[in-house]
Amino acid sequence: MKSIETEDFTIRELRNIVEKASRDNPHLTSRLEKAAFLVLLRPIEPLGDHHYQIKSEDGLRYYEVINGHCQCHDYVRHGPGHPCKHRLALAMSQRLESLGPPSPFHRGSTPADDALESQEAHFE
Ligand SMILES: [Zn+2]
Repeated sequence: MKSIETEDFTIRELRNIVEKASRDNPHLTSRLEKAAFLVLLRPIEPLGDHHYQIKSEDGLRYYEVINGHCQCHDYVRHGPGHPCKHRLALAMSQRLESLGPPSPFHRGSTPADDALESQEAHFE
């Protein structure tokens, strides 16, 4: 189970990711927001190498993303590489995982971690 602090952090980070991506890709804003909805409220399950199962927005079915290709109508209609909300949700969840737990709540940090954190603070 994630701690409350981690959940709060995740929501803040998710909001940051959506805001930044929307600024860079204004035409994707509504799709990015739907993807954030999927990240928060729908399960995204890894089934194997580059194979994920993501529950649909209406919660009635699952879409599989295999090697970056989604099964949804939106993706199939637009063709390979299309940023459908499932692929965006997958990318967001992977980005959140790569960020890890927030450093202020990180216990038992090593001197190297402390150095990294002070450097990060310097850039803010
Ligand atoms: Zn899709």
